[in-house]
Amino acid sequence: MIYPAGTRDRKLWIEGLRGEKNLLSPWLPVHYLHEEEIGPNLAPVTVNTLFIANKECAFRCVMCDLWKDTLDSDTPLGAVPAQIDYALERLPPAHWIKLYNSGSFFDGHAIPVSDYAAIAEKVRGFERVIVECHPRLIGQRTLLFRDMLTAKLEVAMGLETADGATLEKLNKGFTLQQFEEKCKLLQSENIAIRVFLLVRPPFHNEIQGLEWAKRSLDFALQAGAEVCCLIPVRGGNGAMEALHACGQYAPPSLATLEKVQRHGLGGKHGRIFVDGWGLHQFADCECSAERIRRMMDMNQSQQMLPVLHCPQCWPKV
Ligand code: SF4
Ligand SMILES: [Zn+2]
Repeated sequence: MIYPAGTRDRKLWIEGLRGEKNLLSPWLPVHYLHEEEIGPNLAPVTVNTLFIANKECAFRCVMCDLWKDTLDSDTPLGAVPAQIDYALERLPPAHWIKLYNSGSFFDGHAIPVSDYAAIAEKVRGFERVIVECHPRLIGQRTLLFRDMLTAKLEVAMGLETADGATLEKLNKGFTLQQFEEKCKLLQSENIAIRVFLLVRPPFHNEIQGLEWAKRSLDFALQAGAEVCCLIPVRGGNGAMEALHACGQYAPPSLATLEKVQRHGLGGKHGRIFVDGWGLHQFADCECSAERIRRMMDMNQSQQMLPVLHCPQCWPKV
């Protein structure tokens, strides 16, 4: 299998390997939950996280499986505010709200601009509103929405990796320079930055995965990220299985993931979170359950625990 070189061919290749989408209503959120995370002062904050149903993202990143929970056509006017109402009626109060939408909040096909005012009204009372967006779609609409909020705005972007060559192959559709420019814009506008990073993306072996994830963390923090979320790369979208079959993708070990987390926690800036969703699927050693528990503890405390040595996956040197 040869991975296509150009964006257009990659799009066709990625789409050709997809399975079915999940059937969604535009008037109901995909999912919603109440969680806790460590805030800027290292005190816990409560967060209501909503996964909004909306039109699919126009990009075609090779590792993405978010398209499974998206709509094929433009999100109807009024649907997103209705989804927020539905979720918030069922969730307890919280300090912050995440409006995650499996794409870009500032994509007008996903979140109609005419709904911004209604959305801002629905989230009045939260201290912070966190949305996700592709760097290229950050601009005037971001500032327009920010100006409607009573809360602090935070924008989460998937940098994925600071390895420029791999970033291009992931089909992300932006360069490191463009990412840095958007970070500068957000910082100058008093908008907080959260960054998603992949641990061992396709095209990296285990050693490259570890080294580049550490460098990517440094890059993101240098660019102004307050929070970095480490995502161990999973399969499940068709394309990743094809890459796995030809040796171009394998999941990271939990030891690698923890080493990246420790690298981040050892720095001076930022909060570092390991994405705990589905982490048990990465279990690769007798120590895995304990290692996962400790990584989640380090998420909560933002403090490093002593290394859990293991003869199989983390021997003493
Ligand atoms: S920009 Fe985000 S949502 Fe869109 S394809 Fe890439 S990873 Fe998926
Ligand atoms: Zn082990």
